[in-house]
Formats: sequence, structure tokens, C-alpha cells
Amino acid sequence: MISRKDFLLKAAGVMGLAVVSPVLLESCGSKNPAADACTPQNLSEEEQGKRKGLQYVGKSPEAGKNCANCKIYKKPAKKGDCGGCELFEGPVHPEGYCISWLAIV
Ligand code: SF4
Repeated sequence: MISRKDFLLKAAGVMGLAVVSPVLLESCGSKNPAADACTPQNLSEEEQGKRKGLQYVGKSPEAGKNCANCKIYKKPAKKGDCGGCELFEGPVHPEGYCISWLAIV
């Protein structure tokens, strides 16, 4: 038999975990940490709108198509850094993608 005190303590722990877990996961960028590093939060609404309009994502859903092999990707100065794109301002992840992907021929 569990005491009322133990029950309340366990319930509070479970509730706390349920509330805190999504916050911790979000702050860790656990969904795709590398892509998150190339997703700036301080872009103007216009620049955010451009990304949204082109359906830019930090991790390509298209096999064999990503920013690194797109014709208009601006390679970073240093390997491992975020690159850029000719179509909008700000950092772009090499594994990212948008609907304007253009094959290098
Ligand atoms: S056009 Fe799209 S796929 Fe190509 S580099 Fe820019 S964001 Fe990436």
C-alpha cells in the first residue's frame, strides 16, 4: 500500500517531468541540432517569409537533394560551418533543402 504522501510525491515528480521534458528537449535542439545551428532566430520578417515561401528546412526530405549539392548554395569559408543561399539572407545548413533546389550540371 502506498501512502498518500508517497503518492503525492510521485505524482508531482511525474507531472514535473511531463512539463519539463519538452522544454529540455527543445532547448537542447534534440530534433536536429546541426540544422538548428543554421536556423537564426533574429531574421527580419521579410527574410523569414522568404525561407517560408521556399519551404526551406534544415534537413532535406528529398533523397539526394540538399543545399550542399544545389547550384546556388554558397559554400562556407570553413568546412563544418553553415553556408548560405543566393535566394535569401542568413545561414543555410548543407543538409537543408527548399523547393528551389537546382541541380549542378
Ligand atoms: S536554393 Fe534551396 S536548396 Fe538551394 S541552397 Fe538555397 S535553400 Fe538550399
